[in-house]
Amino acid sequence: MMSPLELTDDQKKLLYLISQFSNIGRNLEDPDVWLKELALRTFIFQGIIDQVFTGYDYAPLSVDTVNGRMFFNISQEAEDDIVDLRQLDLVECLKLISQSSKMISAYRVTKKGFKIGIPEEYMRKMDKIIRCNQCNELLSVRYEKNPQDNIYLMCKSCNSRTDSDITTIEDISYSSKPYFPKFPFYINYARRDEKYGYLQIDDKKTIKIFLRAKERNDDKEPEEWRLQ
Ligand SMILES: [Zn+2]
Repeated sequence: MMSPLELTDDQKKLLYLISQFSNIGRNLEDPDVWLKELALRTFIFQGIIDQVFTGYDYAPLSVDTVNGRMFFNISQEAEDDIVDLRQLDLVECLKLISQSSKMISAYRVTKKGFKIGIPEEYMRKMDKIIRCNQCNELLSVRYEKNPQDNIYLMCKSCNSRTDSDITTIEDISYSSKPYFPKFPFYINYARRDEKYGYLQIDDKKTIKIFLRAKERNDDKEPEEWRLQ
């Protein structure tokens, strides 16, 4: 297992991100503060597109949220790093049940996590993602249903808001071509005398694979085929 001294650059930035929304409360005047998963994922996404995280990528993932099933651009590398930070006891996770009986995760940096030194340059870069560029207050992540599912970052102090593209799924163009194994199959519309079997393409462009069930020893023996 890795030690806290071996944290990667991205793990340090991630730890700093969570720490800014964490508080280990001591009493009612100093309450516990946790960062909800949706907000964390949104800040991570913003950090990727603004190139603060250098080793993370993202891909669309369907997530069951309090607001129903939605697609988010989620970074699997960051999710893995959250697991690593938890295993190192630098971040802890709280599971909550929402009013609609959905499970929500929230994260907080531990006492041990707060002691990790973060390079100032990383803090500066991450602050540009999580703080308002007008008044430097921490941003909060909000969801609105109309006109369509939308996640935005807002500053409560100056009421400014920026839309996040975390729910904007990019079109990825795929190109593909059919692959037919050359052996032992042959594309054959009429003949059925191939040694092992043949492919048949019908009018509906459905490909059927026929395998010879039994090898014939002579021409008189009936042919047996089975559809694969
Ligand atoms: Zn502000």
